[in-house]
Amino acid sequence: MSHWETWAQDQLAAVRRDGRWRSLIAYDGADVSGKVNGRDIVTFASNDYLGLASHPQVRAAAHAAIDRWGTGATASRLIVGTRPVHLELEAAIAEWKHTERALVFPNGFSANLAVLSTLGVAGTIFSDALNHASIIDGCRLAAANVKVFRHCDVEHLGDLLLNATGPKIVVTDVVFSMDGDVAPLQAIAELCVRHDALLVVDEAHAVFGTEMPAIEGLQLLRVGTLSKTLGALGGWVAGSAALIDLLINRGRAFIFTTGLSPADTAAGLAALHVYLSEEGEALRERLRYLIDQLIVAHPSPIIPIILGEEAIAVAAAKRLLEAGLWVPAIRPPTVPVGTARLRIALSTAHTDEMVQRLKLALSEQLPANCGFLDASR
Ligand code: PMP
Repeated sequence: MSHWETWAQDQLAAVRRDGRWRSLIAYDGADVSGKVNGRDIVTFASNDYLGLASHPQVRAAAHAAIDRWGTGATASRLIVGTRPVHLELEAAIAEWKHTERALVFPNGFSANLAVLSTLGVAGTIFSDALNHASIIDGCRLAAANVKVFRHCDVEHLGDLLLNATGPKIVVTDVVFSMDGDVAPLQAIAELCVRHDALLVVDEAHAVFGTEMPAIEGLQLLRVGTLSKTLGALGGWVAGSAALIDLLINRGRAFIFTTGLSPADTAAGLAALHVYLSEEGEALRERLRYLIDQLIVAHPSPIIPIILGEEAIAVAAAKRLLEAGLWVPAIRPPTVPVGTARLRIALSTAHTDEMVQRLKLALSEQLPANCGFLDASR
């Protein structure tokens, strides 16, 4: 065997030994009901929180874009990969987020890479300990001086800012992807103004919108994705004209990659129109109702059930799958060691009956001392 084959086998043996083997499972479905290996399954795993990936208007917009512009953008955005629909979507996002401009990326991951690698070269980045991997990798790409503050710990962030000199960026998820909790944006924004720091917020999972504090003098850059609430694919950044122009001119994760496909761009735009309509408001109300069925007043559709050991989480997910319910087990390195969990993601595509079925299955399958069962009563 070649060196690299042997090396790969050794690495894989280590993954197996650590109980962290992962593999791909094909899910044959468009919304939350589909098939796995020919068996009917209801998933509680997708980020399509409002069911817009299957919305008739969103599907129709994607079809129409393919008919008009073909399947691919055919070049990077700065060459010939910009279609009128990209500019239309960017204008709509800027209006939605109350910023001068917006820019669309092939995905949210590259949006974060571009923002942090472009701006991070010029200062210190202060990053929440549970920020998404794309934020962490963006900081690494910038080779920036990075200070990690304890999760949602405003006091710790304040101490770190106090002891820092030079230009500063504070970056945080708005809704944390593996815990479903929400950043204390008001207090973080106040600190940013006091320390003259740019605040970068990642709104990827903020299906209920982001209540940005109206604080005089706040410098803000907003990042998000079309791939979750808006049911398509693609990332976005919204901010001042100067920062957006800088990303167009310096953001390597924007410049050196093919533009977002016309179909995804048009789907994202159509989904945004639905999101901003009365129908969108009703969908968000419905999602709130479904969340309340599991945990009253939980702030997001992401509900973690922390089980600790990886083997316990994996076994629980397996039992639920056997009962026809797909609730993924999330393990290190995605989450800290000792906090392996089931991660429920709710969607308006779920019926009341599906949520009741999940509740019943959880009460049967989870260990009796599991905190979730108490919280959900
Ligand atoms: N930020 C956060 C907080 C995320 O959870 C994700 C996706 N898991 C991303 C960014 C990346 O978005 P995308 O899937 O569009 O690349």
